[in-house]
Amino acid sequence: MDSLRAQNYVAELKKKYQTLPPVIYQLGYPGNFKDQQLNIEAKLEISKIQPFITNSGSSLNIKEVPWISSVEVESDIILRLIAPWGGKEENTWAYITTGGTEGNIAGVHFGLKELYPYKPILIYSNESHFSISKAIELTKGQFSAILQIPTLRNGEINCKQIEPNVRNVIDQQDSAAGDIPSILVVATLGTTMKGACDDVCSILISLYSMGVTRDKIFVHLDAAFHGGFWHLDNHNPQYQIGIEFNSIAISGWKWYGADICGLFAIYQRTSCTYSEQGFREYLSINDIGITSTRNGLNAISWIIRFLQFDWQEEYNHCQKIVKYAVKQFQSLDIETFVNPASLTICTPTLPTLIIKKYCLACYDDGHLGKICHIIICPHVTEGLIDILVTDLRECIGEMKKTSWFK
Ligand SMILES: *Cc1c(COP(=O)(O)O)cnc(C)c1O
Repeated sequence: MDSLRAQNYVAELKKKYQTLPPVIYQLGYPGNFKDQQLNIEAKLEISKIQPFITNSGSSLNIKEVPWISSVEVESDIILRLIAPWGGKEENTWAYITTGGTEGNIAGVHFGLKELYPYKPILIYSNESHFSISKAIELTKGQFSAILQIPTLRNGEINCKQIEPNVRNVIDQQDSAAGDIPSILVVATLGTTMKGACDDVCSILISLYSMGVTRDKIFVHLDAAFHGGFWHLDNHNPQYQIGIEFNSIAISGWKWYGADICGLFAIYQRTSCTYSEQGFREYLSINDIGITSTRNGLNAISWIIRFLQFDWQEEYNHCQKIVKYAVKQFQSLDIETFVNPASLTICTPTLPTLIIKKYCLACYDDGHLGKICHIIICPHVTEGLIDILVTDLRECIGEMKKTSWFK
């Protein structure tokens, strides 16, 4: 009787989801929806054998656990993901999170721990993802100041604004003369709206110029979407863990199209990644992440996706489609803006019909006015862009003429 009730509910859900357009039309979403069948089937097969696969703590350096887990798989995918960033089993602590947001919360949390007992100044930009505001909300009171630095027109942090803002804080906090503050930096690799990447080296240089030494700085990289393809483009600076940055967060579901999950990785500098309070004796794990029991299928889905594609090829394909889409927009006389090495195409706000159909994210940007974006993930083809362009042609009359990036 109860199972019938559940089955009926499922039938209702199926009806609902069948009426929705396929996910590939969500061009405003940075998710990779290409060829998901393998992932779905593999997970289903495994779930039929073991429906509850749970991981806790970090899987690195753990060889076995008494319950059914995927620690070896989690370890495997983590090591593959951190390798291009210089991460290894010996120098990194990491775990699979629920998503980029948890990774950012962990970054701020561990940054505070690493810099303790200093109360650091937090630096982030006004185009940082809202998960950073969330992380700040959760850790409020632990910073001596919170500085939201303005961005340049393209969306990256304006490094020239860092020094005057920090100096201003130091002058106001009547700390003993010569006191050099500690700084927690959250830098973004690929802002949500414009795909802009903060220049981490310039941020560090502006802090060094004030006499702040590297050991008083903790840099967390929010690389939610761009972290997946960053190292596939040799124009990008190859930031290394423990050198340019201390921790990183990458979303598993964005570039890789794995299940809803993410990666948090931190350079092991001090004992902060091991704590007495974090040791759970009866589980013999060191549980210091934000969440405890986690879905072990996430690591499995991520490694399936990781092995399924030649990611260099996927990146090259996406760049080709970006160029194609930009050309198509030009032919409609719609201006576009794309940051270097980004797959996010900004346009002035498009007609409502288009925004609804393609789930485009829109917002009022201080620099460019009302904009929206189209994100080119591996599943996007020239054919899909052609469909969008045909739709656009029909309602282009509604668009106001704008001119930006002249
Ligand atoms: C998407 C995004 C996040 C959050 O990631 P989730 O996986 O959605 O939690 C964080 N930062 C940036 C820049 C993002 O674009």
